[in-house]
Amino acid sequence: MSVYIARVPEPDSKKDVPDLEIVQMEVGLLQNFCEVIGCPTTGRAALVDPAFEVDRLLGVASGRGWTVDTILLTHTHADHVAGLDEATAATGAVVRCHPFELDRAREQADRVEPLSDGEQIALGEHSIEALFTPGHTPGCVCFYLPRPGAVVTGDVLFVGSCGSVSGGNSDARAMYASLQHVLGGLPEETRLYPGHDYGPTPTSTLFWERMNNPALTAASYEEFCRYKRVRP
Ligand SMILES: [Zn+2]
Ligand SMILES: [Zn+2]
Repeated sequence: MSVYIARVPEPDSKKDVPDLEIVQMEVGLLQNFCEVIGCPTTGRAALVDPAFEVDRLLGVASGRGWTVDTILLTHTHADHVAGLDEATAATGAVVRCHPFELDRAREQADRVEPLSDGEQIALGEHSIEALFTPGHTPGCVCFYLPRPGAVVTGDVLFVGSCGSVSGGNSDARAMYASLQHVLGGLPEETRLYPGHDYGPTPTSTLFWERMNNPALTAASYEEFCRYKRVRP
């Protein structure tokens, strides 16, 4: 028997609470995107993948009166964690990542705690859902924000393409499943915040991606492999 678990609507008492605010920042020389995510009501904030130009990221938070207490990692490739030591030293924030990425994250930060799949990470009046999306690396995580309805995807999904699956610890079949079944389960109006500025626009919606992105329109795993030029 399969059980379908519906996403639970938020209680009415939260209706008047303003949504999480997401600030997308392009940093460094590899067209990386980092996000600063804040709860306007409480001023609690999180950084996603503080790789480069950490002072600019922290400036965004402090300019809004936010306090960064959480750092979320989509994965630990160097272009996503290069500034992690600087960011944790400046904020004292707790770093959260996939269990497979703990050792690498702990090379640069003292307080690193593992996420679990589906975990609701509290941020002020809101929560952010951790979605395990292996494939690019075994420990890739996407972060879903029910309000405003956004997903931060790191190197899993880009606007118009997807992350590499030809690296040493990549797994094309796992990537296909993550794209089809994990990100495929999110509402079509969800706004996409990718880890790199590789597309025609900095963000898009999952609706646009499902119509236009060959990584998602591939009708089968074999077609996905042809698109990615890897052996099935
Ligand atoms: Zn990567
Ligand atoms: Zn990357």
